[in-house]
Amino acid sequence: MPCPCPPPLPPLRELLQALGHLAPPEAEHHMETLESLEERQANTRARLAHEEASLARVVPDGTRSASEAWCLYASAVSAARRASRQLAVDEAVLRESLEDALFWARQRQAQGVVHCAACRGTGEDSRPAPGSALEGAACPACEGRGRVRLHGR
Ligand SMILES: [Zn+2]
Repeated sequence: MPCPCPPPLPPLRELLQALGHLAPPEAEHHMETLESLEERQANTRARLAHEEASLARVVPDGTRSASEAWCLYASAVSAARRASRQLAVDEAVLRESLEDALFWARQRQAQGVVHCAACRGTGEDSRPAPGSALEGAACPACEGRGRVRLHGR
């Protein structure tokens, strides 16, 4: 009988790496989100381990101080577990966002549309306009679209 479990999902960094080959600016944006998420996950894991260890040291010896310590640490453990569940939701949301970006990047590639090399997909002209302080002029190579169609497609 085949295992009813779905196959394991690819790590987020793997999806991000694949996206980086097709759409560098999108990948950079997601990389910032991923790094921030990983940092918060590491902090939350450390905090949870600390609070759980404190809670495990409380001995039910009938004293008032044991009751107070239990209430204090149990509440801290709950808060850390709640934060951990929220981060799992954030991770799932980021995964969906990455899967979506990767699909559309691959779809564009299959249609022969590639990232504009001149502006790296931003659609903006990086050269300052002569005599002008205005920013955000359209990239001349892609006319501000950030993408160009491959020749012959
Ligand atoms: Zn361009």
